[in-house]
Amino acid sequence: MLGNNLTGYDDTIVALATAPGIGAIAVIRLNGTKAIDICNSLFPAKDLHQQAGHTLHFGSIVDRGRTIDEVVVSLYKAPRSYTGEEIVEISCHGSPYIQQQIIDACIHAGARMAKPGEYTLRAFLNGKLDLTQAESVADLIASNSAASHQTAMQQMRGGFSKELYSLREQLISFSALIELELDFSQEDVEFADRTQLYRLINEANEVVQHLVDSFRMGNVIKNGVNTAIVGKPNAGKSTLLNTLLNENRAIVSDIAGTTRDTIEEVLNIQGVLFRLIDTAGIRESADVIESIGVQKTMEKIREAGVVLYLFDVNETSLSELQAQVDTFVNEGINYLLIGNKTDINGLAAMQEKFATVEGILYISAKQHEHIQELKDRLVQKVMSGDINTEDTIVTNARHYAALQEVLKALQDVRFGLDSQLPGDLLSLDIRRCLHYLGEITGQITNEDQLDFIFSKFCIGK
Ligand code: GDP
Repeated sequence: MLGNNLTGYDDTIVALATAPGIGAIAVIRLNGTKAIDICNSLFPAKDLHQQAGHTLHFGSIVDRGRTIDEVVVSLYKAPRSYTGEEIVEISCHGSPYIQQQIIDACIHAGARMAKPGEYTLRAFLNGKLDLTQAESVADLIASNSAASHQTAMQQMRGGFSKELYSLREQLISFSALIELELDFSQEDVEFADRTQLYRLINEANEVVQHLVDSFRMGNVIKNGVNTAIVGKPNAGKSTLLNTLLNENRAIVSDIAGTTRDTIEEVLNIQGVLFRLIDTAGIRESADVIESIGVQKTMEKIREAGVVLYLFDVNETSLSELQAQVDTFVNEGINYLLIGNKTDINGLAAMQEKFATVEGILYISAKQHEHIQELKDRLVQKVMSGDINTEDTIVTNARHYAALQEVLKALQDVRFGLDSQLPGDLLSLDIRRCLHYLGEITGQITNEDQLDFIFSKFCIGK
């Protein structure tokens, strides 16, 4: 088994499982073959070896004659635990001093500090979780919106893995058909019905393509969307920004991959995080287009996943708007046209003025009119139409990269079938598919890859 190649995984490890700092209670987790021995040596109240698993025990932690705290010990006996190994969780009073003293006592008694993600790594090595489920644990801990929580939960429960396993089975049956043919190659018979092979490959291709396509949405769900509000001075950008922030400001401590100095505000709309870029520029009411130059503005706009282009319906000519739309289209920008200040000259007249331009949403930022529609449109813009949140959604860049390789290999198989390649060559491409699928779930893996994945976890998980 893989675990034999990894060093240090027989040790008993200890770490603080709760957030560092002061709290009502803190939990210190011991894991490994000596977990119960070590805790026993610090817990005179009773012999934990004599107690059943999944039980709680009250007593004191006493280290070398000194009582540190009164605690509750939770006992999990192998293999019925998160990692499949012996686990003892010590719930103590949440003072950082007490936490440190208990951890020191455990180390003195024979444990070592856990590395980031080491508990979950052990759960993976012991077959409690596959790799995608293990990764979803980190995503779940990092989830900060309803959507990111739901996708992480689904992945942790094995939704994604199930889909991959059934795909794998399809490919294996394809392979079996082809290989049967190879066994009888001398006789020049075709066991593998070509229509059936095409059907299998097309089905597999469809599943993988759907997963690959879901990543755009997965990325939106996991990381949010860079959003730019742009338009000429006085179009109403700050007014709109304030309206949106008043209703939907998200409390976000830190989002991976964002640069703090360009992103200041985050909106949470229907569970999706919209990260507003350059809100400082908007607040100062600077003319983004003119003050930093068209070139620079376009760079900003390109950084955005979606651009809200706001214009004053009363002050903008049809040709001016059309020119702006042409630029967006030519640059391949995902934009939403918002005609503001419809309260001044009435909506109907404005709709007539811009009738030839498609997809304008008319609002009054000041009067709070049609703001809900704006939010709905914004969410629609970033969510792929044919994927809904009930589907399996790929949120992990590693999975996405591997799925793209699977897709390439599947396309090669189909090409091979079209050009009537011999079965042994088709078989090679199928093996490539299986290899990359195995990398996702962890059936095929190596130590460096595991180190990389688990080093991104927090210590204690
Ligand atoms: P910015 O330069 O694009 O940020 O524009 P502001 O948000 O500062 O708005 C410029 C002016 O237009 C301000 O006096 C706003 O009160 C006004 N304004 C913004 N939205 C509306 C609207 O929907 N209707 C009306 N009548 N005035 C608006």
